[in-house]
Amino acid sequence: MSTYAIFQDESKCISCRSCQVQCKINKGLSVGPKPNQIIEVGPVNKDGRPKANFVFLSCFHCADPWCVPACPNEAMQKRDTDGVIFINQNRCAGCKSCIMACPWSAPQWDAQKGKAVKCDLCLERIDAGLKPACVTACPTSALSFGPAENVPETKRIRFARQIVASEGLH
Ligand code: SF4
Ligand code: SF4
Repeated sequence: MSTYAIFQDESKCISCRSCQVQCKINKGLSVGPKPNQIIEVGPVNKDGRPKANFVFLSCFHCADPWCVPACPNEAMQKRDTDGVIFINQNRCAGCKSCIMACPWSAPQWDAQKGKAVKCDLCLERIDAGLKPACVTACPTSALSFGPAENVPETKRIRFARQIVASEGLH
């Protein structure tokens, strides 16, 4: 996986979706594509009360990504320096192969531009020493950004699979 990751403290998330909105603003996206999303899971029984969990879901920047080899135009790329998976928009032909290849449909379809779009951890921002747009927008500091080794990958993958299965996402 990438050198970096976005972490979510679910206990702090109030599902305001500021992260979703700020991501779209930063990428200039219209209605439709959501490079990150807050998924509602539950309710689950917590201390005898029903409680919903709000889970931040975005690209995992896989160590061995399905999307990169699926792209016939080498638009989907893995950055050598830090493993961030990104789309070279100039090369994207809009074939949607990456969307179909990713088990979590992390790449999203931008109908306005006729191209795929995805989380790239805000490359231009992190290269300037800033945090990703979603992280800065979170009013409760539920999101943070840091070294990926702080998150066990198996936990992230298992959790994401549970979410996709429970929500019927494609
Ligand atoms: S788009 Fe999907 S397959 Fe590609 S790196 Fe992200 S999570 Fe992995
Ligand atoms: S939609 Fe674009 S990025 Fe995705 S596989 Fe096709 S050309 Fe590559």
